[in-house]
Amino acid sequence: MILTINCGSSTIKYQLFTTDVTRVVARGIVSRIGETGSCFEQEVGGRKVQEVTAVANHHQAFEICIRNLLHPEYGAIGDIHEIEAVGHRAVHGADLFIASTLIDDDVIAKMEECVPLAPLHNPPNLIGIREGLALLPAVPHVAVFDTAFNQTMPPKAYLYPLPYRFYQEHKIRKYGFHGTSVRFVSQRAAEVLARPLTDLKMVVAHLGNGVTMTAVAGGKAVDTTIGFATFSGVMMGTRSGDIDPGLIFHMRRQLGLTPDEIERILYKESGLLGVSGLSNDMRTITEAARAGNARCQLAMEIFAYMATKYVGAFAAAMGGLDVLVFTAGIGENSPEIRELICRNQEFLGITLDAERNALAVGGREMALNQDGGRTAVLVVPTDEERMIALDTMRLAGVG
Ligand code: AMP
Repeated sequence: MILTINCGSSTIKYQLFTTDVTRVVARGIVSRIGETGSCFEQEVGGRKVQEVTAVANHHQAFEICIRNLLHPEYGAIGDIHEIEAVGHRAVHGADLFIASTLIDDDVIAKMEECVPLAPLHNPPNLIGIREGLALLPAVPHVAVFDTAFNQTMPPKAYLYPLPYRFYQEHKIRKYGFHGTSVRFVSQRAAEVLARPLTDLKMVVAHLGNGVTMTAVAGGKAVDTTIGFATFSGVMMGTRSGDIDPGLIFHMRRQLGLTPDEIERILYKESGLLGVSGLSNDMRTITEAARAGNARCQLAMEIFAYMATKYVGAFAAAMGGLDVLVFTAGIGENSPEIRELICRNQEFLGITLDAERNALAVGGREMALNQDGGRTAVLVVPTDEERMIALDTMRLAGVG
C-alpha cells in the first residue's frame, strides 16, 4: 500500500491507497498538534472514529497515525510492512525541483535551502519527512512539490520587472502554487475529453479557499496567478488577490498602519470576508446574496470578474482556448460563480448549459458546455492525494 502524508504546522493529513492507487483504504487527520483540543479522526471502509487526545508534537502525531492504521478493531492494516512507499506533499521546491523526486539526504538539504521562500510551510513538511523516514526507514519516500508543475513557465511569465539582481541574488520570481492539483485536473480533463493533453490549451480554475488560475498548454503550465507569496491573482477567502502595490505605501504612510497590520489586513481580513463583511466562506456568502445582501452579491461579482479576466488573459497568452476546467470547493460546487465567470464569454467559445451547470455540485465530474460549444467547460474534482500517490507509485517502482 501507499501512504500519503500532508504535514502542516498543526495538522497531519494522511491517506492509505492500494499499491495500484485504484482505491483509498483509509484516510485520517490529526489536528491542533501542540495546541489544546488536539483531535484525531480516521475513516476506514465507511467507519469513522474520532477522539480528542493530547498530541504534544509531530512525533506523537505520527505515532498516533500509525497506531490507528494498525488498530485491531478499526485500523486498515495488520502489519506496518504492508506500507510499501510513502508520498509526502512538499510545498516549495523553488527552481531546484521541476518534478517529484525520491527523497534522500541531498533532497532534504535542498528543501532546507527553500525554507526562506516558504518559512511557514516547508519546515513542517520537513518535519513530516523526517518523522516518516524514522517510522518507515526501509521503504522509498517521495516528495511531491506544489511548485514543480509551474516550473515550465517561461521567463517572460515568471520574472517580475524588478531590478534583475532580486531574481539573481534572492530568487524573487513567480513560482505558483496548487501545482499538484492543477496537474491532476489537467490530465484528468484530457482523459474526460478523450483528447491528447499535448493538443489542448486549458485554463484550470482552482477556486477554493485559496484560488489559482493556471494556463496549461500541451500539458505544461505557461502562466499562473499566484506568484511569489500566496497572495496575487483572484481574490480569495480572506486574501485580497491583485491590488495596486502602491496601496501598501499609502496604508503605511498616509493611514499610519504598521507593516504587520497591513499584512494582516491583506492576508486575513480582505477578499470575500473584506468585501462582504460577513464571511470568508462562499456558501455563506451565496446564501446571503440569494436573500438580497448587496455586499455579498458584490463580493461574488468581484470574485467572478477577477477570474473572468484571467480566463481572457490566459487565452491570449496561449493564443487560444480549448478547455476551461473548474475545480476545488467553489469550482466544484457553485453554479452561481461558474455562471458569472462564463457570462458573455461567447467570443471565447464558452457557452454554459444552464441545466448541466446546476447539476454539477457535490464533486461531480461533468461537462457544462452547450452541445457544439467551441470550448469545453468541465468540472473535474481535484484529488491532490491521488496525484501524490500516483507519483509515489511510479518513482518508488511499486504497483
Ligand atoms: P477548498 O479550499 O477547496 O476546500 O474550498 C473551500 C471553499 O469552497 C469555501 O469558500 C467554501 O465555501 C466553498 N464551497 C464549498 N461548497 C460550496 C457550495 N456548495 N457552494 C458554494 N461554495 C462552496
